[in-house]
Amino acid sequence: MADQNQFLLEESQVPSRWYNIAADLKNPPPPPLHPGTGQPMGPADLAPLFPMAVIQQEVSAERWIDIPKPVLDIYKTYRATPLIRAHRLERALGTPAHIYYKYEGASPIGSHKINTAVAQAFYNREEGVKRITTETGAGQWGSALSFACRMFDIDLKVYMVRVSYEQKPYRKALMHLYGSEVVPSPTSDTQAGRSVLAADPDSRGSLGIAISEAVEDAATREDTKYSLGSVLNHVLLHQTVIGQEAMLQMEMAGEQPDVIIGCVGGGSNFAGIAFPFMRDRLANGAKTRFLAAEPAACPTLTKGIYAYDFGDTVGLTPLVKMDTLGHSFMPPAIHAGGLRYHGMAPLISQLHREGHIEAVAHLQTAVFEAAVQFARTEGIVPAPESSHAIRSAIDEALDAKAKGEPRVILFNLSGHGFLDLGAYEQYFSGELEDYEYPNELVEEALKMLPHPAGMA
Ligand SMILES: *Cc1c(COP(=O)(O)O)cnc(C)c1O
Repeated sequence: MADQNQFLLEESQVPSRWYNIAADLKNPPPPPLHPGTGQPMGPADLAPLFPMAVIQQEVSAERWIDIPKPVLDIYKTYRATPLIRAHRLERALGTPAHIYYKYEGASPIGSHKINTAVAQAFYNREEGVKRITTETGAGQWGSALSFACRMFDIDLKVYMVRVSYEQKPYRKALMHLYGSEVVPSPTSDTQAGRSVLAADPDSRGSLGIAISEAVEDAATREDTKYSLGSVLNHVLLHQTVIGQEAMLQMEMAGEQPDVIIGCVGGGSNFAGIAFPFMRDRLANGAKTRFLAAEPAACPTLTKGIYAYDFGDTVGLTPLVKMDTLGHSFMPPAIHAGGLRYHGMAPLISQLHREGHIEAVAHLQTAVFEAAVQFARTEGIVPAPESSHAIRSAIDEALDAKAKGEPRVILFNLSGHGFLDLGAYEQYFSGELEDYEYPNELVEEALKMLPHPAGMA
């Protein structure tokens, strides 16, 4: 057992239910508020944007939610994903720690995002939705939803952040391959886009702006709904297949993790690996540690504040209580495009505030150094986003070495980096710069937090 490299599950062991952590929280998550009135929003308020089944999951307190058969059938074409023991990395580090990683890059689109994309496309199709809009930054979410919409015959329009649209032609090509329409945001197709362009005709766009456009498009058309790839409760729920599988696989390995690590953008892949394990901590006081790794250039958990804020830039979305850098945050150009969002999942923000989740911020070059060490030992090319988790896993292993103590480390390798090889080339040529988001800018942006009339 100790020498084993890969822990594989049978198709019949792919989880048939999602785990809803809301059922095990001491304090209920604060409700979303209406952006205009500041009053709590009910399911009916969200109906223009999401199918009812998804809204019900968003507010559900049921611990287990069955995965519909058509979704499970698609999951089983690429799940269970492997759990791998990083023997070669351990040897290179000379650490007594045992390092395991769950490899979500093994999916058809190369990341975990497909797990929620398939579920969301299914529920939209069930409710007769013909067309979906969404935003994408680096393009991983747009590719995942493009795949899922093709599986369920739904049209998809993707508002892609302009700077990525220009710099990441292969992600765009992948979305086209699956039959989606892709436009560079800000566009002149929406009121939100036109107002941004009027103020700044050369705007490079941001995830917050693209969300405003996609939400407006969906809210103003009968036949269209909107889909989000992170942050919201139902998205985190769909990702819990990762952690449930990892629990079975760690049992096969005969070990229990002391620390569980994931990178965080909006928090969905971290929640996916962490929440099924966290149940034991919440219910029985288990001492397992949970560590969220984020970029120093977008330090939502380590520098943001816990407050109600918009999910987008223009202020069209419901207000959610979360760790935020302020919705006016303009992300610096780092290579982990999927981690450049101003907010954090409300569930993760709350668990962080209650002391169940630790957070650490990494500089870009330290992240690439870890990514290269991982690729040269384990052989897999990691996505720059996932490499934040690798940095933390290596740091934990070196800490265990320094203290001469055993430690079992489990991290989520959320995706592969085959479409990010340009970033690796820049790293090798010494062109990558470190950037730490300054405290002054955090304070500036926090002055812009919303205070609608009825908000307590
Ligand atoms: C989008 C993305 C992330 C960040 O999103 P989360 O919702 O925080 O998981 C991380 N890794 C990869 C590979 C991604 O594509």
